[in-house]
Amino acid sequence: MHALRVIPREQHIISRKHISKAALRVLYRLHEAGYDAFLVGGAVRDLLLGGEPKDFDVATNATPDEVKKLFRNCRLIGRRFRLAHVVFGPEIIEVATFRGTGEEEGSEGERHIVDGRIVRDNVWGSIEEDALRRDFRVNAMYYDISDFSVRDYVGGMQDLDDRVLRLIGDPATRYREDPVRMLRAVRLAAKLGFSIDRAAAAPFAELGDLLGEASPARLFDESLKMFLAGHGLKSFRMLEKCGLLKYMFPATARALERGDEALRALVEQGLANTDERVAEGKSVTPAFLFAVLLWGEVRDQAQLLIEQDRAPDEAWARAAMHVVGEQCQRVAIPRRFTFTMEEIWSLQPRFEQIQRKKVFRLLTHPRFRAAFDFLLLRSHESPAMRELGQWWDHAQQLPHETLAAALPGHGSHVVEAELSSAPPRKRRRRRRKPTGK
Ligand code: ATP
Ligand code: MG
Repeated sequence: MHALRVIPREQHIISRKHISKAALRVLYRLHEAGYDAFLVGGAVRDLLLGGEPKDFDVATNATPDEVKKLFRNCRLIGRRFRLAHVVFGPEIIEVATFRGTGEEEGSEGERHIVDGRIVRDNVWGSIEEDALRRDFRVNAMYYDISDFSVRDYVGGMQDLDDRVLRLIGDPATRYREDPVRMLRAVRLAAKLGFSIDRAAAAPFAELGDLLGEASPARLFDESLKMFLAGHGLKSFRMLEKCGLLKYMFPATARALERGDEALRALVEQGLANTDERVAEGKSVTPAFLFAVLLWGEVRDQAQLLIEQDRAPDEAWARAAMHVVGEQCQRVAIPRRFTFTMEEIWSLQPRFEQIQRKKVFRLLTHPRFRAAFDFLLLRSHESPAMRELGQWWDHAQQLPHETLAAALPGHGSHVVEAELSSAPPRKRRRRRRKPTGK
């Protein structure tokens, strides 16, 4: 057990200047009403590291109902984990009541553990208990609005200095309570550039399987935080290295294990581009990235169906449906994204059809941009693919008349479009003759 360490204001770098106005208002209001009020979790961790927190969470001894009475702009949410949300325009401050362990007398009922897993956690407790039920020691520090000190109950300061993620308590027990903590370890290590303590990483091999029972909706949320928050490539590499990729993206993990280097290059480039866009403040879409992750499997399945003499359109549609269906059992990708993914995939073979009408139809397709960006990522597949990407890049920049004149019309087959110095070479897919049965 760790002794409480209180770091007074003059010995740490957290200044109110770096805390959002909304969070400060919540902290002050609670404090004035006589409650304890602390900034907690990732915000304290990130501020102590000199970073900019993306959200500010508050912990208090006021119950959700008491919090609601103090703020007009407050709504109570969650069943599994009841919380107050105080809303200031686009900003939401999450206010959580200190949680206890539920092991004390008379605290039955609100904390449910099934097969070692926490399924409900609404037992109020002390701040010490609240610290102990958090995941990593660096995530369990409290910034006290009453005197601006930082309270460290579990040795989080030490870990910030060592740049390491250590779990609070026995790692295997903590992962059994909530397997998603394994993914949080990987994600936070990638985000902060920390290492994962040996004891915290050791159970991955044995307990990774438990991720199969985690809620697919929660795994979707977690996958967005991993891949679309600016540290996607690092998260992906760590996930694979830790042996956890296969629980989230089984098909992707299998293909990479088989040594599909073209797919690896595609995925790594896709993630690197996404990280770059995030760094530049540009928008990113989950659909594109999930399309990248699952491409190898979709392409192979479509190919197989085509070899079995299915019409290409049908083959692509079936392959996409099948791969998406399997994936969603692990990570629940919402329909609006899977729809876009299917479009991006099904447009890929159409880039190879260089005929006047078809070219213009594709250029004006609402999903052209995303599908074209995807085609560029596929440059790693073959030199022909690279040339095809260059051809379409060039085609987009030509005036329509020039492009139209250079393209063969419908029905012509042998002619190749002479557009640039690098005309596309038709990729010839060898069609296997149906085996006479
Ligand atoms: P991020 O920078 O992504 O916001 P974070 O650590 O703040 O990272 P949140 O999901 O915002 O992550 O959670 C806030 C805090 O709640 C954490 O710092 C941690 O103290 C606690 N917490 C979150 N998830 C868990 C969990 N699965 N088990 C235990 N504690 C958790
Ligand atoms: Mg947070």
